[in-house]
Amino acid sequence: MDEDFKGSFTQQEPIPEAGIEAAIAVMRSGRLHRYNTAPGETAETALLEQEFATSVSAKYCLAVASGGYAMATALRAMGVKPGDKVLSNAFTLAPVPGAIAALGAVPVFVGVTRDLTLDLEDLATKADQAQVLLLSHMRGHICDMEALMAICDAHDVQVIEDCAHTMGASWKGIPSGRFGAVGCYSCQTYKHVNSGEGGLLVTDDAEIAAKAIMLSGSYMLYERHLAGPDLAAFETVRYQTPNISGRMDNLRAALLRPQLADLGTQCARWNERYYAIEDGLRGTPGLTVIERPPNERIVGSSIQFLLEGWTEGPVQEVLARCIKRGVELKWFGAAEPLGFTSRYDSWRYVDAAPMPQSDAILAGIVDMRVPLTFSLEDCALIARIIRQEVSAVFQSQD
Ligand SMILES: *Cc1c(COP(=O)(O)O)cnc(C)c1O
Repeated sequence: MDEDFKGSFTQQEPIPEAGIEAAIAVMRSGRLHRYNTAPGETAETALLEQEFATSVSAKYCLAVASGGYAMATALRAMGVKPGDKVLSNAFTLAPVPGAIAALGAVPVFVGVTRDLTLDLEDLATKADQAQVLLLSHMRGHICDMEALMAICDAHDVQVIEDCAHTMGASWKGIPSGRFGAVGCYSCQTYKHVNSGEGGLLVTDDAEIAAKAIMLSGSYMLYERHLAGPDLAAFETVRYQTPNISGRMDNLRAALLRPQLADLGTQCARWNERYYAIEDGLRGTPGLTVIERPPNERIVGSSIQFLLEGWTEGPVQEVLARCIKRGVELKWFGAAEPLGFTSRYDSWRYVDAAPMPQSDAILAGIVDMRVPLTFSLEDCALIARIIRQEVSAVFQSQD
């Protein structure tokens, strides 16, 4: 009898009790809006910003409504205008090119390597086309950040990091989001902290921070921020920056603060699960494990592997056999996007030239979520199932 997996790939852990208690206290107070504070009270949102800024050693932090909103706000605060080109990943999630399109700006897609990181050679050839790179650490894979920054500095390209999958991760000991001018994070349910929806933006640049705070809708109450710049930074900015409301509220911040305090522990738990699966997959015929560089400290909240050179039929066969045994895999090579879009050619509002090298890599990428509700035994079982099914289909080919 084949063993099957019974767990859910979309079930996250509950909100910690401390977060539930704090959220109830906010609801009892009735003061959910971040600027609705009693005399002498400090809003949960302001405290969250201060704590997150400290955790990544950033001068400034702003909490907002979503990761996508954080990215669009960063682009606006950096002066991107309608019609401007913005460099970004050919392989990422839809809100990334969407943030660029939200401004009427135009994505210029940069390819993906076999390591699933941004193709720095391709970046170097395209860097003179834009003033900003919106860099997505897609699925948590961090490229050589020093090499990337050298290319961007040489071409006067400013960098915004999309850290939706790298909250808690680092490159050479520097937290993800702290190489570029701005780091953006998501607090959506499937990321590393969960308030349903939400986003965080960090920067050391006082002008970007002041503009971002005004953009998010601070109603001239910016002096209540604990992780904002000095009031002088708002002097002209406050009259010249439109309000594009996208604040975070105290309820979400209350849910997030205990999760943030726990992030290190949670990241270690993700990595135990990630490496248990990786161990189980290593050496499977026809399957390539993605080796993580020693400079990268990962957060293994999802895992990818390659079925290199496989055609569509056998890949679909693997997916079908795995799902029959309870293992939900995603394939980034499918012609029709299902439930999500992650490839440049799915975003047809952009007039992008074909990228055959990236297409060949995308055609082999298989992806799986690793929620913390999985036990280490679950992870070993999942790896066994994938190993058996990939081997079976691989051996039946040719
Ligand atoms: C989830 C995600 C975002 C931001 O998503 P929101 O739903 O707007 O918070 C950004 N980039 C990537 C790669 C993502 O997966």
